[in-house]
Amino acid sequence: MKLRTRITLLGVVTAVLLGAGAIAAVLVLSGAGGHGVTARVHTEALTQQLLLHSSDAVRHAELYAASGDAAHSSDFETAGVQVEALLDSLRASEGYVRHGSDDERAFLARAEADWVRLKQETESLVSVDGGVEPRSAQAVVRSAETFRSDVAMLATTEQALTSRATRDLDRAVIQVAAIIGIVAVLGLAAIAIAGGIARRHILRPISQLRDAADRISRGELEEAVTLQASDEVAELGAAFEHMRVSLRSALNSLTHEVGERASAEEALAEANAELMVSIERLQAIDTEVGLVSEMGEILQADLDEEEAYGVVSAYGRRLFSGMRGALYLYESASVVHKVTGWGDCESMADSFVTRDCWALRTGRPHRVQYGDDTLPVCAHGDAGQCFECVPLTAHGEVLGTLTVEGCSTAPEGEAEIEDRLLTAFSEHVALALSNLRLRQELREQSLRDHLTGLHNRRLMQEALTREIARAKRTGTPLVVAMIDVDFFKEYNDTYGHDAGDYVLVRIADFLRDNTRAGDVACRYGGEEFLLIWTGIELEQAFIRAEAIRSGVAALSFTHEGRDLGRITLSIGLAVYPDHGLSGEALIAAADQALYDAKADGRDKVVLADVVACSATRHLPGIP
Ligand code: GH3
Ligand code: MG
Ligand code: MG
Repeated sequence: MKLRTRITLLGVVTAVLLGAGAIAAVLVLSGAGGHGVTARVHTEALTQQLLLHSSDAVRHAELYAASGDAAHSSDFETAGVQVEALLDSLRASEGYVRHGSDDERAFLARAEADWVRLKQETESLVSVDGGVEPRSAQAVVRSAETFRSDVAMLATTEQALTSRATRDLDRAVIQVAAIIGIVAVLGLAAIAIAGGIARRHILRPISQLRDAADRISRGELEEAVTLQASDEVAELGAAFEHMRVSLRSALNSLTHEVGERASAEEALAEANAELMVSIERLQAIDTEVGLVSEMGEILQADLDEEEAYGVVSAYGRRLFSGMRGALYLYESASVVHKVTGWGDCESMADSFVTRDCWALRTGRPHRVQYGDDTLPVCAHGDAGQCFECVPLTAHGEVLGTLTVEGCSTAPEGEAEIEDRLLTAFSEHVALALSNLRLRQELREQSLRDHLTGLHNRRLMQEALTREIARAKRTGTPLVVAMIDVDFFKEYNDTYGHDAGDYVLVRIADFLRDNTRAGDVACRYGGEEFLLIWTGIELEQAFIRAEAIRSGVAALSFTHEGRDLGRITLSIGLAVYPDHGLSGEALIAAADQALYDAKADGRDKVVLADVVACSATRHLPGIP
């Protein structure tokens, strides 16, 4: 049975009990009230007063009858007024009207009748000479007795009626008290039952619910919420249990989610850390790439080879710190030579043959990790190290190899980047060296005569300016020899231009072969040559010029099977500072001396004039 039904039932029973008790009490009390105890008491009180005043009136009537004293007549009348008023009140009283008895009514009627008679008889008494007629007096006395007796009987009846009503009331009160007692007992029983119901079906389940709520609030969600109830509280318990299950499920999924989130955050943190490392590494790589391109830019500058080697060494040290490296360039077709390096490069081979290097043999980078025996080790390398050789190739030409030894500090997986860095480094170095050589070649070409290979006039002018400055600085002499082939036009005309060229090349070779290091031999133009001799006195210069003249004159020329005959030279000499302080002045003086030699018959060496620089002079014994 549901709790609501039980409580409702209990309430109905209690209400019925209370209602029944109340009705019973009302009935009992109304039963008692039917006797009109209060009215009855009032009526009895009136009767007692009537008894009192009746006695007084009767006494005055008797005194009047006995004495004939008119005073008593007056007193009788006064008392009679009271008696009549009381008789009227008595008759009108509620106790008499509603609760009176037949005896009472009979006695009252008799009393009223006796009173009327007494009053009439008393009023009819006539006092004569102080006395009354005896028969009338006796009649008054009898009537008075009767009246007194009637009133006494009335009073007695009234007392009996009041006593009975009082007893009825007392009994009703007892009955009501009993009813109240019964109702109270039943009420207590109902309360006890209600308490039992409340304790069993409300308080105990609520206590269990409170315990369950405490457990849930502490997060203890494993124990099921079980209530010893089968009504609405049981439904509440079921709702609690449902809530516990939902909470446990939510908590489980939350815990799972939190765990997953924690794992995800951990993974994210790890990924972030890796990312930071990668970023730092990329920044380092970026820096390294920047260094490589910076080196490339520097190498593109107008450097000589030694300067370029210094740059390679400096950047190699920065890019491959902790490692040693060396730049090997071909010094012959099968041998490379170490031209620069960094780190502990002194311990690396100074040179090796091409066969000792797998990079040079295969034309590809050759990298060997320490402990890796799957690849052959370069014979020039250190087998106890990681090392890599990268061939230096530019414009289709292999210039040598770049060798790096020592294990990289790059993390696992970035060796490839390190390889690329070394490759990029090598490419820049190779390209720079190749360009450098090309530039040198171009410069050489621009400064050399393409037919004879001698320096050209431009280089001669630079060299002459430089050497004059040095001669001026050191105080050493300087000689310029201007050489012209004699009758060369005629020679061309006779043997052809190609033969002429051939002769010019032979003469140039001769001059080159007879030129000391530090001196300069150049083709001045056409069939004219100019020699700059440094640190030489005029006499020695003359001897050397004469040796050249006679040496060329002694040459035999054969071109395409034809004998080309003899060739003679005319040579003019000028010396710094005697014949001029500038290059132009010296050349002009030498040219003038040459002109003089021509004029003097050719095949001669002539010195410029010291005084005027425009005339020639001859050394003693020299034509
Ligand atoms: P001289 O003795 O007075 O110097 O007479 P020459 O004929 O040598 O002088 P000239 O200045 O009249 O002629 C110079 C000739 O040199 C003219 C020219 O054909 C020739 N010549 C100049 N340059 C070259 C060259 O590169 N190759 C050839 N084959 N001949 C050249
Ligand atoms: Mg000439
Ligand atoms: Mg000539």
